[in-house]
Amino acid sequence: MTDCLFCKMVAGEIQPDIVYEDEQVLAFRDINPKAPTHILVIPKQHIATLNDLQDKELAGYLLQTVAQIAAIEGIAETGYRTVINCNNEGGQEVYHLHLHLLGGRPMAWPAG
Ligand code: 5GP
Ligand code: ZN
Repeated sequence: MTDCLFCKMVAGEIQPDIVYEDEQVLAFRDINPKAPTHILVIPKQHIATLNDLQDKELAGYLLQTVAQIAAIEGIAETGYRTVINCNNEGGQEVYHLHLHLLGGRPMAWPAG
């Protein structure tokens, strides 16, 4: 999608701080981090929200990739949180599916 911020990153038109990339996913640091480690993991294919995710293999791949990046970032053992905000009341601001990977500090619960 030409007017999607994250699709522009996938296309290389905008260059985020990339931490991991392969054929299916791109992962980059959040511009406004909410924790010492705050990475967004996105499918390269444009999928607007979690409600639109049909591909179960891709769903699993995204989750496994988050765990791998947590290990690379050195937060797998101390712990981390992964979040998917969906639609308005879920707090979604960018309508290209993304998983937040947050770590490097203790997390409160319940989330706000
Ligand atoms: P959402 O609220 O949709 O779940 O999360 C969107 C996230 O994208 C936010 O945490 C926000 O800081 C991040 N974000 C928005 N614009 C940019 C950008 O241009 N670059 C990067 N790296 N992150 C962005
Ligand atoms: Zn997109």
